[in-house]
Amino acid sequence: MPNLLDIDSVLLMGPGPSSINDKVYMVMGRPTIGHMDAQFIALLDGIKDSLQKVMLTNNDATIILSGTGSSGMEAVLTNLIEEGEAMLIPVNGFFSERMVDVARRLGAIVDVIEIAPGQPVNSAELEKKLKEKPYKLVGMVHAETSTGVLNPIQEIGPMVRAAGAYFIVDAVTSLGGNKLLTDEWCIDALYSCSQKCIGCPSGLAPVTFSGRAMEKINARKKKVPNFYLDMTLLMKYWSGTPRAYHHTAPANMYYGLYQALNLILEEGLDNVHARHLDAHNYLVSGLEGMGLKMLVDKEWRLPNLNTVLIPEGKDDLAVRKELRQTYKIEIGAGLGSLAGKIWRIGIMGHTARRENVDALLAALKKIL
Ligand SMILES: *Cc1c(COP(=O)(O)O)cnc(C)c1O
Repeated sequence: MPNLLDIDSVLLMGPGPSSINDKVYMVMGRPTIGHMDAQFIALLDGIKDSLQKVMLTNNDATIILSGTGSSGMEAVLTNLIEEGEAMLIPVNGFFSERMVDVARRLGAIVDVIEIAPGQPVNSAELEKKLKEKPYKLVGMVHAETSTGVLNPIQEIGPMVRAAGAYFIVDAVTSLGGNKLLTDEWCIDALYSCSQKCIGCPSGLAPVTFSGRAMEKINARKKKVPNFYLDMTLLMKYWSGTPRAYHHTAPANMYYGLYQALNLILEEGLDNVHARHLDAHNYLVSGLEGMGLKMLVDKEWRLPNLNTVLIPEGKDDLAVRKELRQTYKIEIGAGLGSLAGKIWRIGIMGHTARRENVDALLAALKKIL
């Protein structure tokens, strides 16, 4: 039988989960209380307040879902899409492709703008598409974790709003790691996760919906076709009087997320973003110093997820295995068409500091 005391402490430098600050683990061991307990309801209010500050939004519908980032994607699309609505999704990686799949399952008529992996979404091309046809929804991934590209959503949000559509953003990798102004950038619905740049174990999905997004949901012709993710019901638990039971919130996970959000706010959002950028620049100069090459052009690189080309003649799996076994460091493999061609090095959340980059560079030097 596996012994949990034998579980290695691994430096997590892949595409998520990221390494966890001990201060987060510590609160997760506090006593479990009931999900309708007055102390727990006060915690929900605290989480909402901290989330609004990290997301830079005044949205009342700012909550956590008890599920991973994918449940956030599912929730945003399930609540906002009504069958037959036209949706536009630019696809430049694995996660925008997943968004297309989920939207089509819900009956949206999805048009796709295909972009080569490693390239960003082009806002002028997207604006042209918006003028050709009236779209109800536009969905985009902010930080494409599969390729290491940061998409210019700040330019696109206002275009989508001007076209009268709803703007949906996947911020699973960007929230907590990159500048993200939910309200100012005209985002109507955004979802994220707990385990990447927020720095908590996986299992929760922070989401936010604008006032106009909630109006669309409340005016649906048919009920939201998923009970567990129905925002109209979830809001009765998060802000109704009295609070109405919906599902048993995993209390200890919520403690961890609250702590992780507050560590970000204590450090200051700008400082946290600068720390990610500093570790990224430090990593890239180290990798380039070893003769390695990055997949993405400098201008579009995502600081928190670095895609590096596997050098000719090196065995992808063997290198990652040695990193894990000998050095207790995890990095990620390429996804889809990039499998075997790149490594994905995450510097997310608590992982994003120079000493961790030093450990990885030293190990890679020995292995390669
Ligand atoms: C990780 C990730 C997801 C999926 O999140 P899970 O927590 O694994 O369900 C979705 N979108 C992006 C951009 C991601 O990086």
